[in-house]
Amino acid sequence: MDKQAAEPQERRIDHFFSFPGARADRWRELHAAAREWEQGRGDATQMRALLEGIEAYEGFFAYPGGQLLASLRQRIDAGQAGAAATLAQRLSESILTRSYKSDAEDWDSGEILSDPPPGLNTPTLSRDQHHRPYFEMLVVAPGAVSRGRNIIEQMRRLRRSEDAFTYEAVPVGSFEDAIIAIILNPAIAAVTIYEGFAHDSTAPVPVLRDFLASAKLDAAHIAGDDLPLSLADALKRIRPELDIYLLSDRHVERLAGDLRASSVRRVLYSVEELLELHLCVLEGIDDRFRTPFFDNLKKYAMRPISTFHALPIARGKSVFKSDWIRDMGEFYGLNIFLAESSATTGGLDSLLEPTGNIKLAQEMAARAFGADHVFFVTNGTSTSNKMVHQALVAPGDIVLLDRNCHKSHHYGLVLAGGQPLYIDAFPMTEYSMYGAVPLSAIKQALLELKAEGRLDRAKMVDLTNCTFDGHIYNTRRVMEECLAIKPDLIFLWDEAWFGFARWSPFLRPRTAMGAADAISAWMRDPASVEAYEAQQKELGKKPSIEKLLETRLIPDPRQIRLRVYQTNSTHKSMSALRQGSMLLVRDVDFASVEAQFHEAVFTHASTSPNQQLIASLDVARRQMELEGYGLVANAIEIALDIRKEVNAHPIISKYFRVLGVPEMIPAKYRSAGFVDFLTPGADWEDQVRSMHEDEFCLDPTRMTLVCGTAGFDGTQFKKLMADDYDIQFNKTSRNSVLLQSNINNTRSDVANLIRVLLEISRKIETDLAKGGENAAATFAARVKSLMTDVPDLPNFSHFHEAYRWDAGKTTPEGDMRSAFYSAYYAEGCEYLPLDSPDVDTRLKSGPEMISANFVIPYPPGFPIMVPGQVISKETIDFMRKLDVKEIHGFERAKGLKLIRPDHAKDHIRK
Ligand SMILES: *Cc1c(COP(=O)(O)O)cnc(C)c1O
Repeated sequence: MDKQAAEPQERRIDHFFSFPGARADRWRELHAAAREWEQGRGDATQMRALLEGIEAYEGFFAYPGGQLLASLRQRIDAGQAGAAATLAQRLSESILTRSYKSDAEDWDSGEILSDPPPGLNTPTLSRDQHHRPYFEMLVVAPGAVSRGRNIIEQMRRLRRSEDAFTYEAVPVGSFEDAIIAIILNPAIAAVTIYEGFAHDSTAPVPVLRDFLASAKLDAAHIAGDDLPLSLADALKRIRPELDIYLLSDRHVERLAGDLRASSVRRVLYSVEELLELHLCVLEGIDDRFRTPFFDNLKKYAMRPISTFHALPIARGKSVFKSDWIRDMGEFYGLNIFLAESSATTGGLDSLLEPTGNIKLAQEMAARAFGADHVFFVTNGTSTSNKMVHQALVAPGDIVLLDRNCHKSHHYGLVLAGGQPLYIDAFPMTEYSMYGAVPLSAIKQALLELKAEGRLDRAKMVDLTNCTFDGHIYNTRRVMEECLAIKPDLIFLWDEAWFGFARWSPFLRPRTAMGAADAISAWMRDPASVEAYEAQQKELGKKPSIEKLLETRLIPDPRQIRLRVYQTNSTHKSMSALRQGSMLLVRDVDFASVEAQFHEAVFTHASTSPNQQLIASLDVARRQMELEGYGLVANAIEIALDIRKEVNAHPIISKYFRVLGVPEMIPAKYRSAGFVDFLTPGADWEDQVRSMHEDEFCLDPTRMTLVCGTAGFDGTQFKKLMADDYDIQFNKTSRNSVLLQSNINNTRSDVANLIRVLLEISRKIETDLAKGGENAAATFAARVKSLMTDVPDLPNFSHFHEAYRWDAGKTTPEGDMRSAFYSAYYAEGCEYLPLDSPDVDTRLKSGPEMISANFVIPYPPGFPIMVPGQVISKETIDFMRKLDVKEIHGFERAKGLKLIRPDHAKDHIRK
């Protein structure tokens, strides 16, 4: 794509930022050079240099493997330009299309190798293996370089025709190489570790080595004996889904008893049959491949069944026999009707009381996502959130939450009767959006509740991670500091967009479950109690609120009750059908609320949940466990590509820009000094440090594209792109649109986007050139209005006194439910048109205007008024400036719906 890729730093194998595409690029480059050479340009020296670059990496991949690479080198060395070009093309195409995974011919190097070692039937992927899913197994063994070929052949000889999957071995000889291999090669799904391998790689890997040293995983920190288990542990931390097998020829029993051996799926005595290993490996894959519900649904669909229950569409007869709706059948195909059922027996299960394959599917999802329990939800995360609120929050309980969170949280609180204590996120006024909630504001609210003796009321902290625009919390730090104030606080992390993050080692520590993992490990470490006690001593008896705010608080590991919930819209970031959502539970006290969760399921789940949705949740889990790592890495790389291409393009960047970290996150929240993904010299290590330390970081896959500088408001630009170019965006703001890359994007999508942006930019240039000074002035005025005349964002004002009967003196919570139901009594309500002078009079001299309902403009999509909230001048100003059409809860003709102040106390339910 651009020549940056030619810089030496990106050539080093420990440059992990953009590996999926970098490999493809290297092959494409080699292929192009080979063609040039064939046509008499270029020379063998250049070819050799390119091949050397490739060889540095290819040891981490099974295909094309040593033999094919050797024949390529032979052809180059022999000056056979034509033959080299043919082979380079074959290899590069196979890698780009991934055809080697199913096509035995791609592996064929027969005619070149003069004498294949006797007894080895080299290409062994036979034709009947075409539809067997393919993966690679890393083999870490001493002398892997010299013995590599043997290892590969040894593993191939284990293949049996009845195997459900097929794999190739990737041998490496050191700890460092093993780490690099599982980072670079997403096809690796299993790892076999022999004893006796080295620590250091023979390749130059300075960044990796520094990083391992900081994690105490360098040669100096690990004793030779300890290498295998330390490696298993390290690999699991990077890719927890991998199955790890340990082959040892001594103390197998003792190894198996080591605590860290929990990272290992099976310890085998290495003189035992290798076939045993082979069977274990296949079983391990099958354990991820199995989709209990989906598998049964397929079986169910194939059975001849007469139905005498509701759901006439089941089996499709009412569709396919109809003269009038047959096209629906033709469009969807027969299977979907065969798989429709209202049965919960005969191979299916009940989502409301799962005891069979749904239960199993949920347990497998829990394993995959790092939770203790998972609930499948078929009404979207909107419902998952309401379920959590209902199950955990009782009337009067206080929930601290971001006023900008998704409306399901606000409505969940109305239903549950919990009192919201709204905390404002930091504003990004220039772009008409909010960031995330600063930890200091959360701590302050908790400390104030404590000061008033009302901390026991605070039940839950509820935050959106990441936010719509990509702000990622430091989930671990937030939970630790809050737990230092209240050790049994519950956390609900709405990760509607962020479910995929589990499969990125960069992002995982910032997920709810990743942080819960880290905190659990920290709680088991004896040093943690010491750290806590040392800090207590330092803080003294009665530390002031200021002191507590500026200290990074350490909780008492002995007191913590770790109660973490996560909801995610599986359909937003993984391959689930729309509305497929999961609710993850990691709560040491879950037993005490389990019955409440069942009530919440009964309250919110349909009694006719959709079978296809449940099946797609099951399948989405399978996909992520087997290929999630590579897919997510690809999505991240694509996002970095878009960021780079847009911001560096000489014409596009005049009118458009993807906001980087500095614009999205104020420097005070970036103590680790991370600047941006695109900063020259920025390394993945900087990013890792930022992910670890900074208060907020940015999800690279969520890209705010500023279009105001091109004279478009967000809505207008989104419509233009959809109508004229078939490119769909996510949400909009006054002067930006949000682009998102996900696991289905390819580099062609990037190319298409860039092409379109260039076309639009060129058109602006031509129009400006044609229109002369007038056009330039109009354009500049339009840009100014979009970029600088932006309305101030209204913070949450406060609840009206009437709805604060149960609130603290200094803390801002309110009885939103009573206010919500006040609006049901017409005599207690009034309407005021937004532009009426009465509005201004009341702002000036009262009585206060009390909102009767939620008012949610799209964009920005957060409630600028909630029931019982006193309407401030800022809110009115914002609404009057707002030029969006869609405002939920507001009828322009009637005006603002208000609760009459003299009626405010009428319907309070104590
Ligand atoms: C989309 C979204 C929801 C709701 O999820 P659905 O699956 O659409 O019901 C909840 N929270 C956030 C932050 C969201 O973005």
